[in-house]
Amino acid sequence: MSNPHQPSPLSYVQPTANSPWGTYLSQVDRVVPYLGHLARWVETLKRPKRALIVDVPIELDNGDVAHFEGYRVQHNLSRGPGKGGVRFHPDVTLEEVMALSAWMTVKCAAVNLPYGGAKGGIRVDPKQLSHKELERMTRRYTSEIGIIIGPQRDIPAPDVNTNGQIMAWMMDTYSMNTGTTATGVVTGKPIHLGGSLGRIKATGRGVFVTGREAARRLGLDLNGARIAVQGFGNVGASAAELFAQAGGLIVAAQDHTGTIFNAHGFDMADLMAHVKASGGVGGFPGADVATLPIDHEAFWDVACDILIPAALEGQITAARAQRILARLVLEGANGPTVPAADDILADRGILVVPDVICNAGGVTVSYFEWVQDFSSFFWSEDEINLRLDKIMAGALKHIWDTADQHQITLRTATFAVACERILTAREERGLYP
Ligand code: GLU
Repeated sequence: MSNPHQPSPLSYVQPTANSPWGTYLSQVDRVVPYLGHLARWVETLKRPKRALIVDVPIELDNGDVAHFEGYRVQHNLSRGPGKGGVRFHPDVTLEEVMALSAWMTVKCAAVNLPYGGAKGGIRVDPKQLSHKELERMTRRYTSEIGIIIGPQRDIPAPDVNTNGQIMAWMMDTYSMNTGTTATGVVTGKPIHLGGSLGRIKATGRGVFVTGREAARRLGLDLNGARIAVQGFGNVGASAAELFAQAGGLIVAAQDHTGTIFNAHGFDMADLMAHVKASGGVGGFPGADVATLPIDHEAFWDVACDILIPAALEGQITAARAQRILARLVLEGANGPTVPAADDILADRGILVVPDVICNAGGVTVSYFEWVQDFSSFFWSEDEINLRLDKIMAGALKHIWDTADQHQITLRTATFAVACERILTAREERGLYP
């Protein structure tokens, strides 16, 4: 008998081909032929388990009341508690948070961490808030999502525009509300509150490790390799520093403050000092004529060997994919490449190390932090970096072998490896009731 209840598209989002959830759905569709009997469960991946929308009212410093829209989405909890960051950005939407939560499910499974996937966000421009307003908003948001988070339930972490201070307020608010000192409720905390050494730079380090391994397989020497980086926040800047230490030349950088180019590579120490002092790459380098400000769109035409998108989703469009000159694209951001662009890059022989493995270093050290919090025993930075390197390089090798075996892209191979793990857990647990 045929099933009269065929799954229909979700009513609460209207994804398009290039929107975040639309991009994610098309990535799932591509993996179905490689799932064997587990394909029976694939619909599980196409709908989040739980999505919470909360109102976040706060009193502003001038006495007015402002309301912000907050979200926490738990995409899948088959393999463990939800895990994923919290983003503060004016463009945050339910659809975006859903896609980011789903990518966390895939990412955690790709590196075999015992977590499901979740993500949160507030639709706000945090730069418009004072320190105290930011604290009030963070605490109220944490209280509102407190009904679904917890050290064994769902563990937030930093993402775009959030950091250790925000995590400290979240940890404190959850702890106050539960009468505990719940260090394990968030990761990416300051070191004194149970944070882990190496966590801040972990995502950038993971981008470097996967990039180093991919470059080795391509026969691309990192010494002298030309690298362009979009997004010079925590991820992009940390990755750029590690590539520069390995002899790479950072020839272009772009963020919300501007786009800069230097054919000989920037002086990284100077650039980092400028970014720290001014809040972005724009305006660098003062008197140095070797570095030029260039047009925003010209970033995509820069002659380089490695391109690192480390900003927001949807940056590599089909049109930009036609122009990219790099041999290797390392996705430090989540969801930077739309599906049509993925096909163009593959046709042009440009290798893409996808977000769901490339930027998994952050959540991997988040996992180390969570384990350390539970055991109340803390590891050295060397030990963390070594373990991170081993997990990332090992996961990439397994994915690469899968890609070779089926003659598929690294993205589809990562989804194949991850979805097999997620759906096996799903099948073994069985349907309740
Ligand atoms: N926000 C980071 C990501 O997108 C880290 C998440 C985490 O550590 O839980 O992977």
